[in-house]
Amino acid sequence: MQILCTNDDGILAHGLECLIRAAEQIGDVTVVAPDREQSATSHSLTLHHPLRPVRRGERRFQVDGTPTDCVMLAVEALMSERPDFVVSGINHGPNMGEDVLYSGTVAAAMEGLALGIPSIAISFAGGDLRADIAKLNEQIDVLAPLLRHLTSLDRFPRETLLNVNLPPRRREEIKGVKLTRLGRRVYSNSIQPMRDPWGRHIYWIGGGAISWHGSTDSDFQAIQDGFISVTPLHLDLTHRDVLDTAETWWRTP
Ligand code: MN
Repeated sequence: MQILCTNDDGILAHGLECLIRAAEQIGDVTVVAPDREQSATSHSLTLHHPLRPVRRGERRFQVDGTPTDCVMLAVEALMSERPDFVVSGINHGPNMGEDVLYSGTVAAAMEGLALGIPSIAISFAGGDLRADIAKLNEQIDVLAPLLRHLTSLDRFPRETLLNVNLPPRRREEIKGVKLTRLGRRVYSNSIQPMRDPWGRHIYWIGGGAISWHGSTDSDFQAIQDGFISVTPLHLDLTHRDVLDTAETWWRTP
């Protein structure tokens, strides 16, 4: 089985190394990853300068582009065989609720899906990686059997990517796997007003407080309760319920 691994934290990220070590247990791994941090770049594509892949070893490439660029380049140009799966991660931090719309990790899996390849995004739902590094390392042994299971499903769901979040817990404290739906994430005070070195006003997006809410079957709740969360996502953003009610919009009374 050919597995393409990528991420949005850059090719030097520890999470990617953990993903590679898990994926190598189930197939032949090719890595094509950004040369630097590309978190929150979503599904952006580089159109205004060329991309230069740099070989970093056998079937390892770094690319001066986004996660989406990496998947496109890997599949269309760098890999001799089309991958059977695209796996993106392990992201340093959760990708739940609305975060999936900003995430480069999830976007890489979206690109895999857009190219017709079954795709999985993996995120470690911990906070400060320095504090949680031991827990991230233990996810290798958690992820390998999970990936083996997901990649050997009789029918991987069509038109779907799987968004996996791993709870920041020691291996023996993880309670199992739950299928979930996206919860809701609310940021507050996430724009920090500051001054630049010349005293001018600037703003830095980040920090603040994050609160979550969601139903009992949400991704957030599963992580809170110590389960691995698996959320099936599709790319069709159509709001079907509104389509039904919108029938009246152009009806003359
Ligand atoms: Mn990231």
